[in-house]
Amino acid sequence: MSTLLSVTKALDNLLEAFQPVDCEQVELTQAAGRVLAEDIHAGFDLPSFDNSTMDGFAFRSDDVQEASHEHPITLVVVADIPAGHPYLGVLTQGQAARIMTGAPLPAGVDAVIPIEDTDAAHQQAGEPVSLQVQVFRPVQVGDYVRSRGKDARARDLLIHCGTRLRPQEVGLLAMLGMPSVKVYRRPRLAILPTGDELTRVGDPLTPGKIYESNTYAITAQVEQAGGEAVSLGLIADRFEAVKEALDRALEVNVDVILASAGVSVGAYDFVRAAVEQGGRLSFWRVNMRPGKPLAFGSYHGTPFIGLPGNPVSAFIGFEIFVRPALLKMAGQTDWSRPKIPVVLLEKVGSDGRESYLRAVVTYRDGRAYARLTGHQDSGNLRSLIQANALLIIPNEVKCLPIGAEVQAWLL
Ligand code: AMP
Ligand code: MG
Repeated sequence: MSTLLSVTKALDNLLEAFQPVDCEQVELTQAAGRVLAEDIHAGFDLPSFDNSTMDGFAFRSDDVQEASHEHPITLVVVADIPAGHPYLGVLTQGQAARIMTGAPLPAGVDAVIPIEDTDAAHQQAGEPVSLQVQVFRPVQVGDYVRSRGKDARARDLLIHCGTRLRPQEVGLLAMLGMPSVKVYRRPRLAILPTGDELTRVGDPLTPGKIYESNTYAITAQVEQAGGEAVSLGLIADRFEAVKEALDRALEVNVDVILASAGVSVGAYDFVRAAVEQGGRLSFWRVNMRPGKPLAFGSYHGTPFIGLPGNPVSAFIGFEIFVRPALLKMAGQTDWSRPKIPVVLLEKVGSDGRESYLRAVVTYRDGRAYARLTGHQDSGNLRSLIQANALLIIPNEVKCLPIGAEVQAWLL
């Protein structure tokens, strides 16, 4: 129970306990940021009819093969086709239709020429169409035409189940005419900040106290990962207070109980004992820096994660362990985080644990370089806000020279 697990083993162990939560139907206006719980197939061809990509004239490309500025070809304009108004007639040789962007192509034509390449170049909005048009250059079959099904065919798989919906996916769903979509429910987490020194933000500070900041940072991290955080208020460093808060977390029906602080070996660290009285811990220390005191287990069947109290450790512990768990619960199929190789601009020391160091990464000649952002105390949140990356110093490495290459997570 007290063995020091590697980060990889601890994460594997933890992720096994999490499964995707149930699904719900949400209106498309509420779908951004949610994770799809169904595959999305095109219900019809996209676009669903041949249409013009330009404001111009549609005709048979054969008719204008000899056209030039010096010798324009004159066509008879038989129709005016605004967007949204199909023309039901058929055009024949020598005929043209004025056509606007997105308007359906009439039968009988095979190309469009932009208005700029005709003698109607200077037409104003609202101007009636002239009886003839002079075309100044040739076009080929299909020019300036978006043909039916060019983007997608009916039944094509367009968006995979497990995709987090970005604005562009939401737009595509609307294009397919879907008013609502099936997504995974947002995972709910209870946050339990423990510590006698903690003061609610907004209240006056008294000697020896600090503002409770972890709940704020963690709530933001939870929301960014697509979850919902329920704050259970400040919890004193007493066994009974912690126990009572854990029970309240069960009552508010959450998918995970997330505690901050009180999981280490301090004389007033009661979180582990309280969890074990109503559940079990699989581990409570991880071979990493910062954030060695990181606990995982369950309380009356609900997964429990105990993050370290130090703000930087809590943040990094969240990124390494809680975010992947949350993404897995949220139905995402990929929760890995891209790493990039960076070259050290300064010598870096470690104590042999897998270390996550705050750094600024800059780019020069296609390579990324990194420098630490000041001292790496796990309480120094300032150095985290100055950082744009976390350097990952592997297990058992104690010193890396200038010029060494390491992996980094971009923040
Ligand atoms: P602990 O894990 O209880 O040993 O706490 C480690 C450090 O984190 C101590 O300096 C605490 O004061 C600090 N700390 C604990 N919880 C919080 C919190 N919620 N917000 C800010 N700092 C905290
Ligand atoms: Mg404490």
